[in-house]
Amino acid sequence: MVQHPKSSETIYERVRVIHELCCVKPLPSLSFWEQQWLKNADIVIIGSGIVGLQSARHLKLQWPHREVWVIDRAPVSLGASTRNAGFACFGSIGEILDDIERTDEQTAYSLYEMRFRGLQQLLADFGETGIGYEKTGGYEIFNHNDATEFDKIAQNIDRVNDALSGITGEKPFQLRNAAKLGMQVLENGVYTPLEGMVQSHLLYKKVYDAAVASGVRIMGGLTALSPEKLDSGKWRVATHEGYTFDAQTLVVCTNGYAASLLPELQVQPARGQVLVTSAIPGLAWRGLMHADKGYIYFRSLGTRILIGGGRNLDFEGETTQELNTTEGITQYLLQYLREVVVPGESFEVTHQWAGTMGMHQNRTPIVKRLDDGLYACVRMGGMGVALSALVSRELALLVKAG
Ligand SMILES: Cc1cc2nc3c(=O)[nH]c(=O)nc-3n(C[C@H](O)[C@H](O)[C@H](O)COP(=O)(O)OP(=O)(O)OC[C@H]3O[C@@H](n4cnc5c(N)ncnc54)[C@H](O)[C@@H]3O)c2cc1C
Repeated sequence: MVQHPKSSETIYERVRVIHELCCVKPLPSLSFWEQQWLKNADIVIIGSGIVGLQSARHLKLQWPHREVWVIDRAPVSLGASTRNAGFACFGSIGEILDDIERTDEQTAYSLYEMRFRGLQQLLADFGETGIGYEKTGGYEIFNHNDATEFDKIAQNIDRVNDALSGITGEKPFQLRNAAKLGMQVLENGVYTPLEGMVQSHLLYKKVYDAAVASGVRIMGGLTALSPEKLDSGKWRVATHEGYTFDAQTLVVCTNGYAASLLPELQVQPARGQVLVTSAIPGLAWRGLMHADKGYIYFRSLGTRILIGGGRNLDFEGETTQELNTTEGITQYLLQYLREVVVPGESFEVTHQWAGTMGMHQNRTPIVKRLDDGLYACVRMGGMGVALSALVSRELALLVKAG
């Protein structure tokens, strides 16, 4: 019998109410000492996701004597980094062909390369074990009514493999029989041995600890308002809670929330909804699965399944920063599980949540100098785990170049 908990909504509501209560409480005037302490930041980064924290660490390593602060609206990051699905992936072939149609071959392959090299860098920085990395490989699977989609992929697979083999050192995509997965899908599937999974909480912990160890200061519970340039050339960031930071360098790493602070940035928030099932003892497969051009994704979590997606059911409604889950997408994901993934198995939903991605039509990240001392490293799309180690280094070099 499939059930999904109402309790997660209740907890979410409770957290929101507490947050609002805290935020409206007026702050007592800051002491002389508090003002000195906060004014002493050379570099301020807004957003403590994996991109903000890695950027902060690289900046601190670059300039050990500068004070580097990261502020975040939540006690622990509250966007995508702690709410994702833990795929260490670069794009299924269906997604790549989709990207080529939206943009061009060069852009699509460059994006794949950034993610591929980014994951190698992430593993080099934090190690496989510490972030729970397992190179499980992954499948792209096709529903019975997706035969045309599969045919398109089969016609293009050699061309895409030829273009990407120089980056990966081997053919990234192989046509493979998917029948052994025991799902209600076409026998024809596409396998990639290259991708794997991480445990997102372990990755976040490693990234957080490394930032702290480098000397970065992290403060949660401060919601930044739009930055203001001072006559001194510094950037002032006031927060909703009444604190003010004046910094020589300001870096915005708020991903899907970036346009709220800097409306000139072309970043759309995109809600991603996820749920986790109870253990399914007979689960016949382990690894990552992509379906419907990446709009459905699921993975094994021990003998549980984590599934997310369905944004394409209501693009407009899912272009939101709200973090609640919706009945329509929940039922869609459950139906997919019941009819396609584990037909006949009984399970419950034990966890359910939503996160916010930062999106754009061409799916490329923004790593940019916006003004003297003002930078953005945002719009990580749906595969920011792999991108994060690369873009954060790029950001630090950009700041160094001035
Ligand atoms: C449901 C879901 C599943 C995903 N699955 C995967 C996956 O399997 N693999 C993968 O590679 N990627 C996945 N992603 C994408 C990936 O998680 C992101 O690309 C990546 O985490 C982005 O990191 P970030 O640091 O740029 O942004 P975030 O992690 O979103 O961090 C931004 C931070 O900014 C803070 N913030 C926002 N506004 C303000 C403000 N005004 N003041 C202060 N702080 C503020 C937020 O609280 C947040 O902590 C998924 C995303 C979602 C939502």
